[in-house]
Amino acid sequence: NSKQYSRSYYTFAQASGIGGLLRQKILIDELPIAVEHDQINLVYQPLYRVNDQQIIGFESLSRWHHPTLGNVSPVEFIKICEDTGFNIEFDLYVLGKVCRQVVMWRQQFTQVPPIAVNFSVRTCESNGLANAVAQVLQQTRCPRHAINIEITETAEVIHQDDFFRNIDELKALGIELAVDDFGTGYSSLGLLQALASRVNKIKIDRDLIRNIETVPLNKVLFKLALEMAQTLNISALAEGIENETQLQLLKQYHCEYAQGYFLHKPVDSQQIERLLENSCAKH
Ligand code: C2E
Ligand code: MG
Ligand code: MG
Ligand code: MG
Repeated sequence: NSKQYSRSYYTFAQASGIGGLLRQKILIDELPIAVEHDQINLVYQPLYRVNDQQIIGFESLSRWHHPTLGNVSPVEFIKICEDTGFNIEFDLYVLGKVCRQVVMWRQQFTQVPPIAVNFSVRTCESNGLANAVAQVLQQTRCPRHAINIEITETAEVIHQDDFFRNIDELKALGIELAVDDFGTGYSSLGLLQALASRVNKIKIDRDLIRNIETVPLNKVLFKLALEMAQTLNISALAEGIENETQLQLLKQYHCEYAQGYFLHKPVDSQQIERLLENSCAKH
């Protein structure tokens, strides 16, 4: 009947995002403007060593507060970056901000652990990436070991040759790399191996951690990821630790590093400065 038809049509319209098209258009048009006006804010989430719960690094995460739409999730605007080809400019913009921040912190505090920057997979496929990164480091006078780069594990790598050449060039610059969201990218084992053998760290996705206490398969996959890291002699970090039980499991399985709301939420630079003040001697 027609009533039912119209309801399902409505559902179809919603699901296919007809209503969302306007939102998308606004975001596509205005993200570059937000970058131009430096309106993207960074928050930082501490990364911990499981053993002694010392902070070993921070991950920078972008935040966009749109004047009328409110907070837009990075998942949404990073997708837009990739779809519109704005990703390189965006990632280099964030890199510049992080470099300037870490240089400032290194002037203020004696021990500032490295800050990780997320690069989109598309960015890692683009020609001349390492040169562009080297230029940002030089312009901001940021030492190469003061930053790390995180690259999501994904089957979406289209230009594998370019991708791996760029990764090798970044490595050659002396920048430490991590595979992000490990275990959820549906990469082939070959691609996974090629990627994992080039990086310093794998970050095991929180999807594998989330139900680790209750879902046996997650436990198996998690242990497999740890074993792979050990075999390749790289370190492993578990993402999304949300409770004490999960943290205890990491200890039991000898997972070296962890990150998650239970340990520390992402916070603004001022709150990071308080952490640095307490944990690191001041100049
Ligand atoms: P990611 O790189 O895997 O970052 C970790 C995400 O998990 C962050 O979400 C963080 O807030 C969240 N998280 C941390 N601990 C927990 C926890 O215990 N439980 C749960 N449920 N979540 C936790 P966020 O900030 O929303 O970022 C989402 C994704 O967007 C990031 O995932 C990253 O892929 C991307 N992203 C964020 N900022 C940037 C950026 O500046 N550049 C690029 N290229 N990508 C970015
Ligand atoms: Mg990340
Ligand atoms: Mg991640
Ligand atoms: Mg993620």
